[in-house]
Order: sequence, then C-alpha cells, then structure tokens
Amino acid sequence: MNALQIDKGEDGIVVATMDLPGHSMNILNETLAAPLRGLADLLEQDASVKGLILRSGKKDFLAGADIDRLRALKTAQEAFDASMELKRFIRRFERCGKPVVAILNGQCKGGGLEIAMGCHRRIVVDDGRARLGLPEVKLGLLPGGGGTQRMPRLVGMQQALQWMGEGSDIKAAQALASGLVNELAASADEALLKARAWIAANPKPVQPWDAPKFRYPGGDSRSPAVAQLFSIGPSMAAAKSWGNYPALTHIMSSVFEGGLTDFDRALEIESRYFAACAISPESRNLIGTLWYQLNGIKKGASRPAGQPQSKVKKLGILGAGMMGAGIAHVSAKAGIEVVLLDTTQEAADKGKRYTQDILDKALKKGRTTADKRDALLALITPTTNYDDLAGCDLLIEAVFEDRAVKAEVTKKAEAVLANGAVFASNTSTLPITGLAQASQRPANFIGLHFFSPVDKMPLVEIIVGKETSDETLARGFDYVLQIGKTPIVVNDSRGFYTSRVFGTYVMEGLALLQEGVHPRAIEVAGLQAGMPMPPLALQDEVSLSLGVHVAEQTRKDLEAEGKAYTGHPGEPVLRQLCEIGRVGKKAGKGFYDWADGGKTLWPELGTLYPLAAEQPAQRELIDRLMFAQANEAARCLQEGVLRSVADANIGSIFGWGFAPFQGGALQFINSYGLPEFVARARELAAAHGERFAPAQIVVDMAARGERFAEQ
Ligand code: NAD
Repeated sequence: MNALQIDKGEDGIVVATMDLPGHSMNILNETLAAPLRGLADLLEQDASVKGLILRSGKKDFLAGADIDRLRALKTAQEAFDASMELKRFIRRFERCGKPVVAILNGQCKGGGLEIAMGCHRRIVVDDGRARLGLPEVKLGLLPGGGGTQRMPRLVGMQQALQWMGEGSDIKAAQALASGLVNELAASADEALLKARAWIAANPKPVQPWDAPKFRYPGGDSRSPAVAQLFSIGPSMAAAKSWGNYPALTHIMSSVFEGGLTDFDRALEIESRYFAACAISPESRNLIGTLWYQLNGIKKGASRPAGQPQSKVKKLGILGAGMMGAGIAHVSAKAGIEVVLLDTTQEAADKGKRYTQDILDKALKKGRTTADKRDALLALITPTTNYDDLAGCDLLIEAVFEDRAVKAEVTKKAEAVLANGAVFASNTSTLPITGLAQASQRPANFIGLHFFSPVDKMPLVEIIVGKETSDETLARGFDYVLQIGKTPIVVNDSRGFYTSRVFGTYVMEGLALLQEGVHPRAIEVAGLQAGMPMPPLALQDEVSLSLGVHVAEQTRKDLEAEGKAYTGHPGEPVLRQLCEIGRVGKKAGKGFYDWADGGKTLWPELGTLYPLAAEQPAQRELIDRLMFAQANEAARCLQEGVLRSVADANIGSIFGWGFAPFQGGALQFINSYGLPEFVARARELAAAHGERFAPAQIVVDMAARGERFAEQ
C-alpha cells in the first residue's frame, strides 16, 4: 500500500490521499514526505495536471512531524537543514502556479497544519472532531515548517503568537473566523465538491504573501500596534516562564524578525530559531519524558504482561466526600455506572450534587446539553445501602484517613462483592499492605491514589501491596486509562512515591526559613526553579496540621518498628506555626495571611525567624529545592519503590508539577550530568546535612558512566 494514493481525473485534477501504512495516524516521516515531494514534481512538470487536492484517508489529516526524526538531529546544522528541507516542498506547492487545496479532517496539527497553510485553500470537514494547532511549544520546539511565518500572515501576529505560545487547539469555527482556513464543509464528500469547484474557478492562485501588496492583518513588525505587543510580550513571557522555556522567546523572535523581511528570508530565520530549539536541553527533556515515556506508559509499559484487557462496568465508591465525589464524576464521565455510598443519604446526595453542579455550569456555558447531563447523572446512584454494591467489578474506598474506619468498610463491602472484584484504597498515607490485612482477599487489594482536585489532576498513583496480584494490578491500570488518566505503578512504602518526594520540596523551603533566609527569596527560588507553586504557599495549601500529622504518624510507626526517627530540619517550623494556630489556608493564616482570594506573607515571620546576616545566592536556594527532590526520587528507585524511570519522571510532573522543562525528577539528574550531580550533592551535604548525600544508585551509575533511561 502506498503512503500517498494519487488519482488523476479527466478534468486534470489530482486527488492525493495520505494513508501511511502501519500507522493509525499520518505523521510526516520519510515514507510520507518522499511521495509528497514527488507531488511537487508532478505539479511543476506535468502540464496535464490542472490542480491538486490533498486529503487524508485516515480519521485525522496529519498529526505532525516524526518525533523519531527530530530526536535523531544532533547538531544545529542538521536541525536547520531538516527544517529547510520540509519547507522547500511546501514552498513549491504554493509557487507552482496551479491551485492546491487541502481538505482537513480531525487532527491537523504541527507539520500537518504547516503543509495545509502552504496550500492555496483550506477546507475543514466540520463534524465536531476537527482540531487544528501548532503545539510544538509543548515539546520545547517551534513550528519549523513555515508555521511561524504563515500563521501570522494569515491571522495576524497577535493571534498567532497566542496560539503558538500556548500550543492551543483551534476548533473549526475559530479557524474560519480568524482566517486560518477558508471554508467549512459538512462532510468529506461536500469538501471534495467544494475543492473541485474552487480549483475550476481559480486556475492561477497566488498566496497572499507572494502578492505584491501583501499586508499582515493587524499590522507587521514595524506598525505601532504590533511594536507595543513586542515591547511587552517577551518580558511577559519571561516573567511567566522565569526564562525556563526558551522556545517561547524564539517563537516571538521568529515572528518579529520574519515580519521585517521578505518571505523566503523569513523562512530561513525561522529555521535558525528552530535549530536552536531542537538541540536545546529543554526540548530534549520535554520530548524524552512527555513524548516517549508518556506514550510508553499509555501503551502499558508498567502493566504486567499477559493479563487480559479489562473494563469497569460498575464501580462502587465508599465515602462521598471531596475525593469520592470527584472520582464518581470522572468515572461517570467515562460512561461507568457508579454507586456512591456514604454514612448518611444526605452525604451521599451531596457527593452526587458535585457532578450536578459541574454539569449545570457546563450547560449554562453551552458545553453540554440537558440530555447529556441527565444521562450522565443517571449513572450515579447515591446510597447508604451496601447491598447496592453487588455486581461492582471495582470498589474504591475514600472514607476518612483512619485505619479502623477503612478496615470496617472493607469488611462490609467485601461481604456483598463477588470474589473477583478488585478493592482499591485511595489512602494518601497509609501503607497498602497494612490496610489489606482487613481484607479476605489481599490479592485483590490495591492502592489507587488520586490527586485533588480529581477532575483536573491527570495522574493516578497505583500502589502494589505485598500480596497484590498481577491481575489486580492490570485491572487497576486498565481502569485508570479508562477514565482518561495516566497511571504510574509503585511498590508499597511510606508516602508511596509522590507524597514522599513532594514532601522534600516543601520541607526544604521550611528549613530555609528556619535558617533565616528571606521568605520571599525562598518563594521566588521555587518559581525560578520551574515549580508551579512556591514551597511556603504550597504548604499553606495542603495545611501545616496535615504536615505535623504525617510527621507524627511516621515517628510512631518507626518507633514501633524499633527504628530511630530523625525529623526533617524544617519540621520545627511546622509545629511552631501550628501551635499558634497558623495551620494554613483553610484557617486563613499560615505562612501567608489569606483573605479576599489573595495572600500576603505574614509580616511577623521575620520576628519568628530573624533574617540571617548573610543571605545565600538564589542559585543555592534553587539547587537545594531541586536536589532534595531529585535525590529522593533516586532513592525511591534504588529501594524499589519506583519500578521505572518513566514512572518517576511522569509521576513527578503530573503529580506535583516538578519543573516540566527539566523532564522530571530523574531526568533532572541526567540533565545535570551524573558525575556533576554527585559532586554538587556532596557539596550540599557538607554544607546543609546528610539528606543531600547523593543516592548510592547515582554514585554507582556515575562511576559506570551510565544515565537514567531517556525514552
Ligand atoms: P472527606 O472528609 O472529604 O470525605 C470522607 C467521606 O467519607 C465523608 O463524606 C464521610 O462521611 C465518609 N465516611 C466516613 N466514614 C465512612 C464510613 N464508615 N462509611 C462510608 N462513608 C464514610 O475526605 P477526602 O479528602 O475525600 O479523603 C478521603 C480519602 O482520600 C482519605 O483516605 C484521604 O487520605 C484520601 N486522599 C485525600 C486527598 C485530598 O487531597 N483530600 C488526596 C488523595 C487521597
């Protein structure tokens, strides 16, 4: 089968259909790029060809570049050449003197949209599925196939910068209104008719930017309105990203500089910025983790082999509080029937109301219909009766964080569940193996650790207890994918993976405060490091009392095991603030005073923790906050809490927002260089304590010249 099927009609119009064999989506690899280049020859050389219609034989037009090819680019020159090569044939399409029309269906992203913009006319099949966009920035890249030049010339610089800077999805109606596409069609057949009609009526089209009097919509780089945009845009982008995402500024530079010159020079300018992005460590990190490792996870890299695929039809949830209500919502959204149980009907109803409120809001905004809302709500049955749980294939317990309460509901639920049903706990701190002791079927017992707010957080941490079977793990894994979330799989241990490593970040912030570092310097260091929230504000959000509670529980457990407990140096700060009632956001006061939706640092912090005479450099603070996390993640891998590098990286970014441009907690170490990490960690350990002593696994790998897996 050919990647590109070519049919020439008697009217001289060639219909070229992209259908890459062996792939569910068309991607711009050499198998497809080669015949596309051949099309340019055909247009230029065959006088009997009157026009070209480019379309897809798959459910999507073209998903984008071949990431494997991008990954193989080693030098800036290679990246520049690859980008120019792609552009050359697009340029030949638009300059061939014959009409070229693209019919866009489904996903039309990245390189797909760049090719489409090089056609004289774009018609979108508007069946609700069409999504256009240039998402390269999300992988630390810029659109290097002419995207940063054609899009601003079609829709204006401001709109183009917004779409490319955010990597936004663009729907059919927006694409039409902005001028990105020319026409919508109700079906693929109608699009074909429209394309033929347009070709017949426009035998010699010229692209707007090749016309002598071309003007950018909304002004070019020299116009006052745009000058204003460029005078504040780069600083706004840098302020938002703390300079950690160079692709953002490269996109702006490419658009601006491209607007000062002719189109062909502009394409070269773009390729130079593309090359800078393609070989940047940020894009290598982002592609390694958020492309390769994430795709690997979604394809089941951490799912036990040989287990049959499963689907949950009926789900039971115990506890209709904040977490239970959220889990009910995301599960019903995936079409699963949900029984939501609490101790009173009122509490159970309140849990269901959470979904009702969300859907009512969506209805008001026109994002759903009354029928769809009612159908989804009908899937959730609030109850107090355990008999209603009969027939559930999965049960998730989200009652109070209390061993006795959890044990009691486990027993009650198991009495009505079929033998094969899986029982999951959403505990955030209690070891799964211990909780499974209350179960008659510990092989069916597993941890499914959701994050709050359940709707928004993409991760579920699956915890494997000592006796959890592979079948149970596979079924938990399948359920997480079924509700559209990303699973990581970890072995049972205190704090599992995410809470344990996340804790080192906030606690390091507290230790810095204790040492007399200015609280504002600590907070800024967190943001400069690329974390979504600074440590003190984050501790306020999760509450200081919870921090004390976890520390206490850890101390008790360790002492019961006959082990010594050495608290973190930040712990006294937690206790001190709790003692004076500053327990965090929920009380309106912690490290910050929280009022009217805003927050200000508590002025008295300086009295409690007087400023040290000498303040450390920001670099020192950033290193402490990041090394604390990366080193702890390495320890988790060393101890077997983590089962894979991919889970470590994805879990850190999706679980607690570990700086994405670093590629995750273990990729951070790769990026720093293992020998360099070991040396710096030793320096930090000498100055600030043993917690920074490099994990043995890193020391050993550094000695052997190894790195953590990057794909
Ligand atoms: P919550 O207090 O909001 O809800 C708990 C619910 O369980 C309440 O509605 C309560 O009435 C109900 N409940 C208590 N005893 C029960 C019983 N015997 N039978 C049936 N229902 C009972 O708590 P939450 O924040 O939703 O947390 C629930 C669980 O999820 C805890 O184990 C917690 O550690 C875990 N968790 C919480 C978060 C978070 O951010 N809040 C994140 C991850 C995990």
